[in-house]
Amino acid sequence: MEFRDLKQQYRVLREDMDRAILDAVASGAYIMGPQVRELENQLAEYVGVKHCLTCANGTDALTLALKAWGIGPEDAVFVPDFTFFSSAEVVSLEGATPVFVDVHEETFNMDAEDLDRAIKQVLAEGRLQPRAIVAVDLFGLPADYKAIRAVADKYGLLILEDGAQGFGGSVIPSEAKESRACSFGDISTTSFFPAKPVGCYGDGGAVFTDNDEWASLIESYRVHGKGQFKYDNVRIGLNSRLDTVQAAVLQVKLKAFADYELDAVNAAAERYTSLLGDVVATPVIPDGYRSSWAQYTIRLKDRTQRDGLQAHLKSLGIPSMVYYPKPMHLQTAFADFSTRPSGLGRNDKEVDCLGRNDSVSLSFRAKSRNLDHCPVATSLCDRVLSLPMHPYLTEEQIQTVCNAIIDYLR
Ligand SMILES: *Cc1c(COP(=O)(O)O)cnc(C)c1O
Repeated sequence: MEFRDLKQQYRVLREDMDRAILDAVASGAYIMGPQVRELENQLAEYVGVKHCLTCANGTDALTLALKAWGIGPEDAVFVPDFTFFSSAEVVSLEGATPVFVDVHEETFNMDAEDLDRAIKQVLAEGRLQPRAIVAVDLFGLPADYKAIRAVADKYGLLILEDGAQGFGGSVIPSEAKESRACSFGDISTTSFFPAKPVGCYGDGGAVFTDNDEWASLIESYRVHGKGQFKYDNVRIGLNSRLDTVQAAVLQVKLKAFADYELDAVNAAAERYTSLLGDVVATPVIPDGYRSSWAQYTIRLKDRTQRDGLQAHLKSLGIPSMVYYPKPMHLQTAFADFSTRPSGLGRNDKEVDCLGRNDSVSLSFRAKSRNLDHCPVATSLCDRVLSLPMHPYLTEEQIQTVCNAIIDYLR
């Protein structure tokens, strides 16, 4: 059994996929070929935003957004403590400080009440300027944007939606029409890493926004800070484009995703939940929300039970993964450069740990709110287990996984 069966997906899409890839190769337009712009238009339409700009990966997409906003040293950016490293790494890379916020036990997403507390704490301390919130749509479920937006507005902060896992998820508020993931942030991003809800055959990413000014800045930043033309460079940027071949792959994948894959993962999740609901804590999807099921993640009693179950599944040839084994605030990369609010951090001198020049060392001097906090995120890291999940899971496979879990837990 595969955790995410991309080979099976390729077998199903093969005819269209081979044609799309070979057309791109035969065309000779390997960088910024017409498929890139076509895909951007399709993605913008699917998500329901004005601008989509593709780039080299989901991490660069976040970086491009922070650059467009001019986030840098002295800025605090609030990030959930339970996420993939990138969500916070990009903040430190810009020289700003990620401040970690706890998550909800049931949705795994940012807790707006703890966000409010964290912002107050940073303001009281007075060292950093709160600027933005990275809201992550973890495991495919959109974060609670109603609550997060209320806090953002209260303090005048920008929302960067990290939709790397959320693409395809949606919210249908009772009073309005469906809104899709990657439309909830002031800027939103996604990743096309192969295992994400929509993945290419390599690395890829995209940035979404309704704001014309930020879109044109991002267009510049992604190609070496270009100005009027390619060899007119007006700012320091990146080389972060999506390859034409990957855009061609994604056009085929996006169609399959919209036509039936998103429905298929939702059907698989429902099946899991109906078989497992009585024996283990299954994922909670709040009313009006729809997940794109980047992961189907159950919660166990404690670490012993989780690790035992994972070993049992492994012995039966059933793959499972721990997303994530460590909360952000305990990651070594942040701890080494952290300063506690009391000023007693391990590294509160301005040390150039990499022996590089000042501007680089600045980037790595990012500090984190390294308190004994975020108890929910910390506890989840001991108890979560993600099960095989993809659009091509069969009923038989789902039953095999569930029977193995039920056997172990009874
Ligand atoms: C995968 C992921 C990213 C980074 O995407 P890449 O394309 O791998 O750079 C960022 N944030 C989250 C939450 C992710 O899951």
